[in-house]
Amino acid sequence: MLLSSGCGKKNMNINYKSNPEPLLKNAYIKLPLGAVRPKGWLQSQLEAQAEGLTGNIDDFWPDLVNSSWHGGTGEAWERGPYFLDGLIPLAFILNDERLIKKVKKWIEPILASSSDTGWYGPAKNKDRWPLAVANKALMQYYEATGDKRAVTVLKKYFRYLHDAKPDWPDKEWRGVRAMENAVTGYWLFRQTGEIWILETIESIQKNSSDWTAYYEKFPWDSAASADKKIPLNWGADGLTAHVVNNAMAIKYPGLWYQQSRDERFKKAVFSGIDKYDHNHGQAGGRFSGDEHLAGKRPDHGSELCSVVEYMFSLEELYAILGDNRLADRLELLTYNALPGTTTPDMWAHQYDQQSNQVIVSAAKRDWSTNGDYSNIYGLMPDFACCLANMHQGWPKFVESMWMATNNNGLALVSYGPSMVKAKVSKGKEVSITEETDYPFNGSVKLTIGTKNAVRFPIDLRVPGWADALTIKYKDNTVQVKGSTHYTINEKWKNGDQISIEIPMEMRIERRYNNSLSLLRGPLYFSLRIDKEFKSVKINYDNFAYKGSVDWEIYPKSAWNYGLLIDVKNVKRGLKLTENPIGKYPFSDKGDMIWSAASEKYIAWTQDAPVVIIARGIKIPEWTLKNNSADLPPVSPVKPEGDPEIITLVPYGCARLRITEFPVMDVVLMENMKKPSR
Ligand SMILES: [Zn+2]
Repeated sequence: MLLSSGCGKKNMNINYKSNPEPLLKNAYIKLPLGAVRPKGWLQSQLEAQAEGLTGNIDDFWPDLVNSSWHGGTGEAWERGPYFLDGLIPLAFILNDERLIKKVKKWIEPILASSSDTGWYGPAKNKDRWPLAVANKALMQYYEATGDKRAVTVLKKYFRYLHDAKPDWPDKEWRGVRAMENAVTGYWLFRQTGEIWILETIESIQKNSSDWTAYYEKFPWDSAASADKKIPLNWGADGLTAHVVNNAMAIKYPGLWYQQSRDERFKKAVFSGIDKYDHNHGQAGGRFSGDEHLAGKRPDHGSELCSVVEYMFSLEELYAILGDNRLADRLELLTYNALPGTTTPDMWAHQYDQQSNQVIVSAAKRDWSTNGDYSNIYGLMPDFACCLANMHQGWPKFVESMWMATNNNGLALVSYGPSMVKAKVSKGKEVSITEETDYPFNGSVKLTIGTKNAVRFPIDLRVPGWADALTIKYKDNTVQVKGSTHYTINEKWKNGDQISIEIPMEMRIERRYNNSLSLLRGPLYFSLRIDKEFKSVKINYDNFAYKGSVDWEIYPKSAWNYGLLIDVKNVKRGLKLTENPIGKYPFSDKGDMIWSAASEKYIAWTQDAPVVIIARGIKIPEWTLKNNSADLPPVSPVKPEGDPEIITLVPYGCARLRITEFPVMDVVLMENMKKPSR
């Protein structure tokens, strides 16, 4: 019998556990936690995270200090597992003893909580939802430590789910997010090969919210948004319009595709992503939801949880499907939306970020459902889910930068300074060090470390926006054009190098009211607005600690500029400077940074890593509306007044920003200046 290409052991990686039959073969195989480590600026970023909220909140946030998940008497629901789901990868990726000690304090009571029925966690929690998150934490803990007790707890719990009645109601988080369990379920099946685990996943898929039909139909489109038909409630229909649920659910058809082998489910993933872009797409790779889906207007925001969950979905989907668009999108979110919504020192975060974010303050805004504190950078603006859940963003991204290939090689999935140590060929351990300032610069140098010469393939991703990659290795120089991957299969010896030049041409993207966003590589650029940070005491923030603070940020320079740009020759008239990358990579002068040494905040004076000098013209009638920048006037805008020099910095470095610019066409402007006949 001729089986589809997904079958057979022949083309399976022999070093890492990939999908066995009857599952479809994965495109790539995620490496165990700890195989990929950050270098250069990315290491600084993760260290900042470890020194910021992630490495400290469990010492002072009552919900974690007294969590029932580690034997306290307090919060027993999602907050402990959320925190662990980010703390565990951060601790083991950095190999940070202080953080690993914290992990153990949580993990031991969780491992001990597993009961005869298979249920685990705090006795007072009866809801399956937080266990779906805790499952992922245990999975990662096992990968980092090899502690088999974690697999035992997971197996017992999946046996519980297998034998118990399905309980996945559409009006509850555990139901709408039920397929989150499948992430761990498929992993567990790869570990054990026990077929009943697939029966459990099939039962969950068939008895929980039908997200595939949702993506096919997509009821909450632009028209629904314009007609105010998006259900702004917390019932069954409102939960399908909930931004975080959407960001999580985009992977569910992809997860089920592995087991169903039905192309319909793969199609639903890409159709879903397209529909988000067309109906709710925002600069920075996001879609809006504040906290229900909110359309494309740049005054609408995206909740931080939706950013980190969308990232995780894309990481999972890339391993399953290997489609470049998924990694392109992952880089956009990681290098724009994620850093843009925290302070550079990661001591404060927003609930909702905006593309055109000109005032950060406690005030009424046109959110769909969120409250007045949603765009301040603080400890727990609006609601504390993001404070618990934000930690997974950076470390899980690092984990997925490199993956294993089915033919016993390695794949470079997302560019950035890193080092992978993994087994290739027939079990030979090698390392590849990636030196680069990407995304701030497009030069990448890979250096192979190996005891003995070994042949294995290295699969390089070609970003969708890059016209051509120049790759040099041994005595070869190749130009890769019109392709999504390039594989080099060579016999590598210690010290061999591959150099990659990724062309970082500037380009534009049309957005709301025909406005324009400027990109270079995976980075969006925003107007630099002079700013004043004002420390405020929000009434529910009554346990401030070390660097923990709530910030309002006020503009101290004009923001209402139209961009003067030649849309046919984007770089014309723009002057780009690359600066040294500092201890806080996504910072710009004027940011406030916590100094642990002097225990106070200091004003940062270093420029962002990339700065673009451009020209703009003020548009006097473009003003504030409901405490946000009003909608950008429809472009092209008739230029009035004189051009001024303006400065653009990466979105992720701009706490105040304009990213969707009205545009004045240079050519139009020049024609106007020509004397009439
Ligand atoms: Zn949240």
